[in-house]
Amino acid sequence: MNGVLRCAVCDKPVDMIETVNDPMTWNRIFRAYCHGEVEEATISDLTIVDSLGIQFDTAFRRAKLERPNEKSTT
Ligand SMILES: [Zn+2]
Repeated sequence: MNGVLRCAVCDKPVDMIETVNDPMTWNRIFRAYCHGEVEEATISDLTIVDSLGIQFDTAFRRAKLERPNEKSTT
């Protein structure tokens, strides 16, 4: 797994990434920790096999969109 997961809110790499294998579903769970929040993404084992070149993109994009304080009034 290559790439750096960047935080869309802080505009920097996230503080920590944790990967957990779910023994019930064989999915892999990625947790990105940043600015006191956790974003969790589940990737199925098939997805991992199919796309070995999978790369991290940006986390917390939704969080940024939902941030009410970021609205600029001009
Ligand atoms: Zn952040």
